[in-house]
Amino acid sequence: CALDDVDHPVCVALEPLGEALPLATGRPDTTFDNDGQITKRPVRALTLSALAPRPGEHLWDIGGGSGSIGIEWLMCDPLMRATAVEADPARAARIRSNAAALGMDRLQVVEGRAPDALDGLPAPDAVFVGGGLSQALLDRLDTLAPGARLVTNAVTLESEALLARAHAERGGSLLRIELSDAVPLGTRRGWKSGYPIVQWSVTL
Ligand code: SAH
Repeated sequence: CALDDVDHPVCVALEPLGEALPLATGRPDTTFDNDGQITKRPVRALTLSALAPRPGEHLWDIGGGSGSIGIEWLMCDPLMRATAVEADPARAARIRSNAAALGMDRLQVVEGRAPDALDGLPAPDAVFVGGGLSQALLDRLDTLAPGARLVTNAVTLESEALLARAHAERGGSLLRIELSDAVPLGTRRGWKSGYPIVQWSVTL
């Protein structure tokens, strides 16, 4: 407990709960059980910032993976709502258990492939595409009521090409995120680059 008086009610309340979660989005990757398919912490923080959550809004987290984006969206405020869409059954189950473990079991999890799996879902205020990006998906999102905020992250050249064209046609902002971590290199250290990520944000 950060307070000196261990008998203080705040200390007594906090101590048995273990380490407190940071309040800012971009929590450690280890917060979310994952199989390596997770939007890494710094990129997740930039992604949540671009999604710009406001109280009570509903997010579609398409290609949910570990659920980290949808769960951090829900953590912003008790009124937030989110639906994760994930094609892989094992990952869909992991999203559910991550959400439950973090007290965010109001996350709705849809096991299925976008865009088809989106039919019938309550309308979103914001949409994140972390997997399953295709022209068919972008066309489907175009049928949403105007005003929803869309953020899509691309790693592959093919996805990047889709986003470059969409940005030319629709505007919004295209951000290239290139990050490097210092790692051991022999007896010294060197920068290890991650794949560059291209992020397109637009209001539909
Ligand atoms: N943002 C996630 C990581 C996404 S990895 C996180 O932070 O954990 C991309 C995910 O998209 C994978 O889990 C993959 O199974 C899923 N996916 C790929 N195509 C999809 C589609 N058409 N519909 C739904 N999910 C899809």
